[in-house]
Amino acid sequence: CQALENEEFLLYYQPKVDMRAGTVIGAEALIRWQHPERGLLAPIEFLPLIEGDDLVRRLGNWVIERALSQLETWQADGLNLQLSVNIAGQHLQSPGFVQALKEALQRHPGVAQQLELEVLETSLLDDLVHAREIMNACRELGVRFALDDFGTGYSSLTYLRRLPADVLKVDQSFVRDMLDDPEDLAIVQGVLSLAKAFRREVVAEGVETAAHGEFLILSGCEHAQGYGIARPMPADELPGRV
Ligand code: C2E
Ligand code: MG
Ligand code: MG
Repeated sequence: CQALENEEFLLYYQPKVDMRAGTVIGAEALIRWQHPERGLLAPIEFLPLIEGDDLVRRLGNWVIERALSQLETWQADGLNLQLSVNIAGQHLQSPGFVQALKEALQRHPGVAQQLELEVLETSLLDDLVHAREIMNACRELGVRFALDDFGTGYSSLTYLRRLPADVLKVDQSFVRDMLDDPEDLAIVQGVLSLAKAFRREVVAEGVETAAHGEFLILSGCEHAQGYGIARPMPADELPGRV
């Protein structure tokens, strides 16, 4: 892909905070395409076009490499931050994923514990046994997993039990409407209880106002991301906000 060779992709970073402590605990890497004519493009404008193609794997490997370099930079600056990257289910389950991750971690030693892979539950279900094996092999390398957009898929108790994910990310659609819509509120509370029962960590996405944040803290969810806290930004703007 020409855009990959021309180095037109870049990562933005959205801070992930502990709302109670008031600290930044990490960030999520979100891909952008600096298109020569169309300007800065969001993932929805180009990721769907490469679905099913080998480019998913190549772009995903580039994202992991870039994220690990960023973790090294932060570590050298004395910042102990976690970094989540989004991984397509197709990429995670492609042959050689674990080996490629292992080699990437060897090129960037000492940051595996800070890396978290975000996957969509629905992208793992076609072969749960295989997905689970891969996730376990990655966890042996020190890498953590989060289930992204949790609540939007099947969110089955059996799947949750069988998937070795450390973190559940409450989907932003439920968080956004939870203060007005009792059913969205019920889903948020359900996910929080589930996380507690299965001893998983939980992060709320899409916290857009202080009221949302306060309500989540009272509900026992301290970790969050959202425009109301900080928008995704280039790496060099992030340390100033830590
Ligand atoms: P996601 O992983 O669920 O990421 C959250 C998305 O919500 C991001 O959009 C983020 O900018 C946006 N967001 C954060 N806080 C708020 C808020 O308070 N309100 C609202 N309305 N939105 C908020 P973005 O960057 O456009 O990414 C969209 C999706 O594209 C991501 O959803 C993820 O599934 C995918 N994606 C992003 N980067 C990558 C990547 O490097 N690889 C892969 N495979 N997928 C990626
Ligand atoms: Mg994500
Ligand atoms: Mg999400």
